[in-house]
Amino acid sequence: MSDAAATTEGATTEGATTESTAPVDAAVRRNLIGLTREQLAAELAPHGIDGFRLRQVWHWLYHRGGRSFPDMTTLSKPVRALLEAHYTVDRPEVATAQLSNDGTRKWLLRFPDRQEIETVHIPQEERGTLCVSSQVGCTLTCRFCHTGTQRLVRNLGAPEIVGQVMLARDHLDDWPSAEADRAITNVVLMGMGEPLYNFDNVKAALQIMLDKEGLALSRRRITLSTSGVVPMIRRCGEEIGCNLAISLHAVTDEIRDELVPLNRKYPIAELMEACRTYPGVHNARRITFEYVMLRGVNDSDADARALIALLKDVPAKVNLIPFNPWPGAPYECSTADRIKRFSDIVANGGYSSPVRTPRGRDILAACGQLKSASVKKRRSEIIAEEAAAAASG
Ligand code: SAH
Ligand code: SF4
Repeated sequence: MSDAAATTEGATTEGATTESTAPVDAAVRRNLIGLTREQLAAELAPHGIDGFRLRQVWHWLYHRGGRSFPDMTTLSKPVRALLEAHYTVDRPEVATAQLSNDGTRKWLLRFPDRQEIETVHIPQEERGTLCVSSQVGCTLTCRFCHTGTQRLVRNLGAPEIVGQVMLARDHLDDWPSAEADRAITNVVLMGMGEPLYNFDNVKAALQIMLDKEGLALSRRRITLSTSGVVPMIRRCGEEIGCNLAISLHAVTDEIRDELVPLNRKYPIAELMEACRTYPGVHNARRITFEYVMLRGVNDSDADARALIALLKDVPAKVNLIPFNPWPGAPYECSTADRIKRFSDIVANGGYSSPVRTPRGRDILAACGQLKSASVKKRRSEIIAEEAAAAASG
């Protein structure tokens, strides 16, 4: 279902200008969203905004989600006018918003260079998870993943990453940040892209999300999923300290080379060693191993037993993901019985191994389906543009 109201709302987040007396030129105003504490301090220092007032601005931006400077009522009128003259608090533009019949929401976001990404909100009984993208497309080409088939790729900036959370909070009416009844309690970097290939921007965005006076999410409730960029895993633990999920998907290098081509560079043994030494890993804080269930490829009893052997000495839990199909995909999902049997074997081996319930499949919002709709849309846009050009020529 398309949510037209949300789309309109998202497109008009620019601040109202009524109280500002200074000339405003939107083209030169800088967006403050996405600046870290240090960057914000450096940006506002030349305007004489520091100390307590700087903290107030930070609080308005990230804790209360102020969407225009005039609304930031605890700031003095001159400060509000000054900010209004020089800055914006822009969120990404919403191209479309869809609501699945299971309550999952997907926003297709469009940036000024017309590149698009998707953000997904999954409400569950006791929590709400926001699935955030880290890149437009992905340079890796995992064979079961639709995102990997996309041509256009670029890193998202920190404003574009943190902007996804802010925009979702806007739309879910989730400001300010009383932890008890938040719509977004968890953030997973499991949308489009490989987050460890965009480390600096992901780190800056996560620092803002983790800041107690910022978006104030708990470190235990943020999970970064990687296909296995081994040299960056340690830095992720040391410098961010969030939960780690590894897209394992196979127990032999032969099969993993095929499914996750990055395995040719960083084979399973190196990946597992990086997990064993992940900073801060212990039994209370396990690493999640994601395992997509592909019929006849990686789903045998022997695979399940080999998985248990592989995880020896790693505080781990397993997340089995039924393969989500997309047009032209070269695989099929394992049968429900097979998945159940695989899960039972892993559980008997001592590892929690829940099967992830696919969410939002009807709007192509489930794992590995992202970008489908926008690719279609772009093609249809091209056809429309060509038709218009032909008609006018
Ligand atoms: N690039 C990162 C994070 C994004 S993918 C990574 O690969 O870990 C998030 C999860 O969805 C990964 O575990 C990925 O392997 C899985 N996934 C990709 N395509 C899928 C599909 N078609 N069906 C089910 N899961 C899929
Ligand atoms: Fe990229 Fe992850 Fe998809 Fe692989 S599974 S292509 S790393 S987004």
